[in-house]
Amino acid sequence: MVTYNKEQIKNLQELDKKHYLHPTSSLKQHQENGPKRIFTEGKGIYLTDVNGDQYIDALASLWNVNIGHGRKELGEAASQQMGKLAYSSSFNNLSHETVIQLSEKLASLTPGDLNVFFFTSGGSESNDTAFKLVRHYWKMKGQPEKKKIIGLERAYHGITMGATSATGIQQFQNMTTSLAPDFLHAAAHKTNCEWGDKNDSDYSRSIRGIIENEGPETIAAVIVEPIQGAGGVIIPPDGYLEAVRDLCDQYGILMIADEVICGFGRTGRMFGVDNWNVVPDIMCMAKGITSGYIPLGAVAITERLRDNLAEVSDDVLFHGFTYSGHPTSCAVALKNIEIIEKENLAAHASKMEMELIKGFKYLTEKHSSVTKSRAKGLLGAFELFEDREQGIPFGPEKMAAQKLVEECLSQKLIVRSVTFGGTNIIALSPPLIITKEEIEKMIMIFSDAIQTVEKSLR
Ligand code: PLP
Repeated sequence: MVTYNKEQIKNLQELDKKHYLHPTSSLKQHQENGPKRIFTEGKGIYLTDVNGDQYIDALASLWNVNIGHGRKELGEAASQQMGKLAYSSSFNNLSHETVIQLSEKLASLTPGDLNVFFFTSGGSESNDTAFKLVRHYWKMKGQPEKKKIIGLERAYHGITMGATSATGIQQFQNMTTSLAPDFLHAAAHKTNCEWGDKNDSDYSRSIRGIIENEGPETIAAVIVEPIQGAGGVIIPPDGYLEAVRDLCDQYGILMIADEVICGFGRTGRMFGVDNWNVVPDIMCMAKGITSGYIPLGAVAITERLRDNLAEVSDDVLFHGFTYSGHPTSCAVALKNIEIIEKENLAAHASKMEMELIKGFKYLTEKHSSVTKSRAKGLLGAFELFEDREQGIPFGPEKMAAQKLVEECLSQKLIVRSVTFGGTNIIALSPPLIITKEEIEKMIMIFSDAIQTVEKSLR
């Protein structure tokens, strides 16, 4: 392990403060305090910082380090590919062996006939690609007015202009004065409304209600995360995704699943939609596709959709990133998927779900503020309430969830709070290689941290 002396650490902190604009971070706090931690190494579920302190990375960094940190095989795959063919473009129907192999591999994993892949550098680009593809599709089919896209409230789809516009979390939209047009938002998970229950007072806010109000001839697609991640790990009730699939079929609307977090074993199945046997028309992926070792995103479309597009459009598909199908990213993805399959990480995540639930039960019994815990595979959350019996939340001024995240960090556990809309949600998604013993260790740290925070809040 590389060690840093006090002067080196101070220097890094000052340079960070001076030159680094951090993503999704408080600028004021950064300018006052500098970076919170500076990490240098990762191994398994752990990250080590410049002081040599080891932290449990209970969010797999950004829900993405599925195979865990420090897997040398991925570095070797990247090095071999770079030595052989570091880069070549896929524009104008040029190709290379590694992207062909990755496309074939993904086709063997995705459900239904989602067998055709477009590559990007991440989740936002994948979603923006899907939005442009569906609009292009309807335009080519002679229905250019079919262009609106319906997303869900509390959904997170990324930060490019299209993805920000599809995102249903106000704070991300407030960042810009104008959004992309023709994005609408529906209330999440109103299963009965999606089946057509007009007596529900939320009907007009449901996807079905919005489609009927706007006119199906104006709606291009619906986008849903199988499980909402950044919105607070919100698991839909059984039957919801099936209802959305049926609704889309009924009205001739394309269904996009945003699998950026759920994909590649996170929820105990290879893809989130596999939990409900739903096959979308388009599936957006990123994060777990390389376990974060190198940037890569992908958009799966059905063979049907590709054939339709090829039939109606003999023009060039004017959409491509310089790094679409980057050879090194593809080589790393192939090795990452090989590890996920060889080590049965989706099945392991499903098994560990029980341990997570057991841990949440312990926390709920021991701490009066803990409630509403849930998990699917290794994607889980619990909430903090001032009075859980009466359903009284902690007021935002108490910053309960933020305080718990800070206390966990000081106890060397990295988790995330979700506080949009007055919630106090603690989200976790550890690397899929986490063991029962490591989950128990994580729960014990949570328990200590919750006790400290509860004391400070009462
Ligand atoms: N979609 C979902 C569900 C996500 O959680 C994220 C990122 O957290 C994105 C899209 C955006 O991905 P990226 O940050 O790679 O652009």
